[in-house]
Amino acid sequence: MNGMWNPEYETMERERLRELQFERLQMTVRWAYNNVPFYREQWEEAGLRPQDIGSLDDLEKIPFTVKDDFRRAYPYGLFAVPLEQVVRIHSSTGTTSRPTVVGYTRGDLNTWAELTARVASAGGAHAHDVAQIAFGYGLPTGGFGLHAGLERLGATVIPASTGNTRRQLTIMRDFHTTVLVCTPSYAMYIAGSIEEMGFDREELKLRVGLFGAEPWTNEVREQLEARLGLSATDNYGLSEIMGPGVSGECLMKEGLHVNEDHFIVEVVDPETGERVPEGKEGELVFTSLTKEALPVLRYRTGDLATMNLRPCACGRTFARHTKVFARTDDMLIVRGVNVFPSQVEQVLGRIEGVEPHFQILLTREDALDQMEVQVEVEPAIFPDQMRKLVEFEREVADRLQEELGVRARVRLVEPKGVPRFSGKARRVVDNR
Ligand SMILES: [Zn+2]
Repeated sequence: MNGMWNPEYETMERERLRELQFERLQMTVRWAYNNVPFYREQWEEAGLRPQDIGSLDDLEKIPFTVKDDFRRAYPYGLFAVPLEQVVRIHSSTGTTSRPTVVGYTRGDLNTWAELTARVASAGGAHAHDVAQIAFGYGLPTGGFGLHAGLERLGATVIPASTGNTRRQLTIMRDFHTTVLVCTPSYAMYIAGSIEEMGFDREELKLRVGLFGAEPWTNEVREQLEARLGLSATDNYGLSEIMGPGVSGECLMKEGLHVNEDHFIVEVVDPETGERVPEGKEGELVFTSLTKEALPVLRYRTGDLATMNLRPCACGRTFARHTKVFARTDDMLIVRGVNVFPSQVEQVLGRIEGVEPHFQILLTREDALDQMEVQVEVEPAIFPDQMRKLVEFEREVADRLQEELGVRARVRLVEPKGVPRFSGKARRVVDNR
C-alpha cells in the first residue's frame, strides 16, 4: 500500500504549486520583515523591501540566513511572535557554545504534525500500525516530531525513547510493534541484538522503518530490510527549519520528496552562493512558507545534495533531493547527534592540565558509532596511579557528554602523543 496523506497538495500541478509558493512567500517575507528585527536590519542593509519580491525568482535577492544568526539571536531573537504565543521550545544541546533555540506556535505544531504524517505515510505507515519511537524525547526535535505525525495518522504510538535495547526488543515483541522510528545506526544495532539477546525474529511484527537524523547508504537500507523484515525509508529535517518532516522518501526510494507547499528548496554553490542547475550537487537552502513563530528565509543547511524535478512513479509532484552524505562544514554526526570539533576544543580548554591537542577517532562497532577522544595532558597531570587515570578520563568524558549530548571514550596521551600532520593536529579521523 502506498498511502498518501494529503493528495490535494502532494500531487498538485507544479504550476499551481508555484503560485501557492509565491503567495505564501510574500506573506512570509512581510511577516518576517515586520516582526523580526534581524530580518528588517538585514534587508535594510541590502536595500531590499518586501514589495521588491515580485515573483518567485526574486527569492534570489534575499540574503541568506545561517546557523550563527540563530546563535547570535539566542535565545528568542528570531521569534516573530511574543513568547506567550509560543507553545513549544526545542533546542540543540550544548552548554558552552550557544545552542540554537527554536519555537512553535499552536499553528506551527499543527503544520509539523501534518508534514510528519505525510512522511510517515509516504514511508508506508498507516492508521493500523503500532509505532515504536526510539528517538530521544527531549530538546532535539526527532522524537516529538514523528510522534505527532504518527498520532495524526491514527497509528498507536509508543514513545519508547532511546537506549536499553533489551527493553526496546521486549516492547517490540510484546506490544506488536509494526513501525520502528529511529536512526539507521540504532536500527542496525537492534538488528544485531535480536539474536544475541535471544529474541526470535519470527515473533516480531515489524514491517516499516522510518529512519533519519544521520547519513546512511542504500547498502545499509538493504541490510536493514533483510535483517528486520521491513521496508526502510529515509526522512530529513533540521530543527532550524522545523525538524523531521521537511522531506522524506516514498516507497520508490529514489530521493526524498520536499514538502514544497511549506518550504521552498534551493541548491546553491557553497562557495559562491549562486544557484546550481537541477541535477548538480550543491548546498540545500530552505525558506519556510507557513511558519509563524520562526519564519526562516533562505536558511543554509550545510548539507550537500542534488535536486530532481522528474515526476515520480508514486504520483507526488514534489521535487526530490538525494540522500545527504556530505556537509560544507566540519560537523560530524555521531549516533544522530550533531557534533562540532570546536565544541570538543571548548570543553577541553576549560579543563586544567589538558593541552590544546586532541583527536577525535570515529569507528563503528556493532553498527553503532563509537567516538574516542584522545587528549594530550601535561606530564604533571599524568597520574602514576591507574585509578586516578581512570577517574580523570571519566571526568573528561562526563564534561564532553554534558556539552555534546553523546558519550565519548576518552584516552589520555602524553604530550605530542596525538599524531601531527605537517605540524598541525588532524582533528578528526573518521573510520566509519
Ligand atoms: Zn515518490
